[in-house]
Amino acid sequence: MSRTVLTRWNYPRPDVLEQVYPAGKPPFDPFPNVSELINAFHCPRAIYQYLHHAEDGACIPRTATAGWRSGETFHSFIVLLKNSIIEGKFKLGSQNPQNLISHGWSLFINSNLAKNIDKPDVFWKQYIEPWTRRKASELIGLGPNSKNYFELTIANTKIQFKTRDGGIRNYPLTGRIDEIDINRRQIIDRTLRNEITPKDYQVWLLWKTLCSIDRSQYPEHLKDVDFSTFDLIVETPTTDTKVDKINPEFEYRTHDCYAWIHDLTFDPKAVAEAYLDKTCTKDNKKDCGLAWMCYMHKWPFPMARGEMRRKFKDMYRALLWEKIWGYDLFQYRFLSLSQDKLEKQALLCRATIVPKSQRNNTFQVRINNPLHAGLIWAKGTDGIDRFLVIFGNFSIGLRHRATMERIGPDLFSVKIEGGRLPSLFGQPLIATTGTDFLVFEERPTYLITGLQKDLHNLEFRGAKNPDRALGDSKIQILEAIFGSRSITRGGNENNEQQ
Ligand code: SF4
Repeated sequence: MSRTVLTRWNYPRPDVLEQVYPAGKPPFDPFPNVSELINAFHCPRAIYQYLHHAEDGACIPRTATAGWRSGETFHSFIVLLKNSIIEGKFKLGSQNPQNLISHGWSLFINSNLAKNIDKPDVFWKQYIEPWTRRKASELIGLGPNSKNYFELTIANTKIQFKTRDGGIRNYPLTGRIDEIDINRRQIIDRTLRNEITPKDYQVWLLWKTLCSIDRSQYPEHLKDVDFSTFDLIVETPTTDTKVDKINPEFEYRTHDCYAWIHDLTFDPKAVAEAYLDKTCTKDNKKDCGLAWMCYMHKWPFPMARGEMRRKFKDMYRALLWEKIWGYDLFQYRFLSLSQDKLEKQALLCRATIVPKSQRNNTFQVRINNPLHAGLIWAKGTDGIDRFLVIFGNFSIGLRHRATMERIGPDLFSVKIEGGRLPSLFGQPLIATTGTDFLVFEERPTYLITGLQKDLHNLEFRGAKNPDRALGDSKIQILEAIFGSRSITRGGNENNEQQ
């Protein structure tokens, strides 16, 4: 069948042709998260590793008995336990702490969390049981009237920090709070380590950020809460430590951290300075999770490692800038532009949750704008967890990574990554902006950081013995690409000399 002839073909407008799309050195500073500040606080080399090589974990000793992500497991179990008590799914039965311990153990051992730990019984005895025993009366007191918010993400573009000479600087910051307990008036950060440094700085930064957010951005149920009066607590399995809110040292040190982040992002000279400024000694270096990088002996092969390093150095920075264009600019944009504007540009979609549709971590939403429904459908068909959904808003809210599947013209099934969600309809953060929640496409920052990590790992690949190096195809390829060795077909001596 013949088609109606088009009245005209639309060509790009001159301003579209002339538009310079973002690349190269960003004309703005990064939008750091609390982990970056903590790394910078810990050691200049640690923040260099974080920014250029996407290596985190400076504050987590590799020797932690229960494994690399054990701190997260400890916190996640507490969230699971508290939520199940608050929602009435976990009946304590009696006021006897021993009863609580045995219920807690069965909840833990039957959860996915225990499956990720090598020795769940040891982990329970060492960390969770002492915590549960210590918190028995607090846990028994939890119920439907408890107001505990877990893993709220907070962000602000301008947070004020005092300088030594009485001045003020504004910086952007984002981070995630382990728990806010409204009834007990506490902001809590958790760690498995016995010493609280640098968790004291971390909880203080989160509190500063929270207090800096304009009250108009607070979700309805938090509108009357004055967070400036809350206690800041660093919680370990065996202790609760209160952190001073009036803390001039933290204020001043913050300027150093931002300066390192700025300089390492833009100034190549800063890398050499960071290498001169290490904060560990031979004795305490093992307390740092990055010690293997700073102290590991590099084997003589590949001989072209120096050249590799020279080439990779520029790539690390280029990738960092790419991340800033993609992710950091996105943070600035989402916190600076109004939600209406973002919606108009289809950067953000609003959705309404279909009542009674929640099944563990899936639920259904209706997207009323047909343009947005089409966009989400087009982007969601590749099955990648590429959406972020927000309960609340960008300044303060629960952010979850999710996949979305179209099940009707404007109806989608949302699957939240990871475990189960607490009951959505009991969540007071929902419906704070006249809508149930917000959804937007996540920037694939993990591809950039993955590339930084892979390149960096390649630098550590090596061999001490020349025979072994000759038999290692990766080392030989590196010699060929970055050294003077020519690539030949076949692997024997004769072929190599051809
Ligand atoms: S091992 Fe030492 S120098 Fe390296 S990041 Fe850790 S504290 Fe800094």
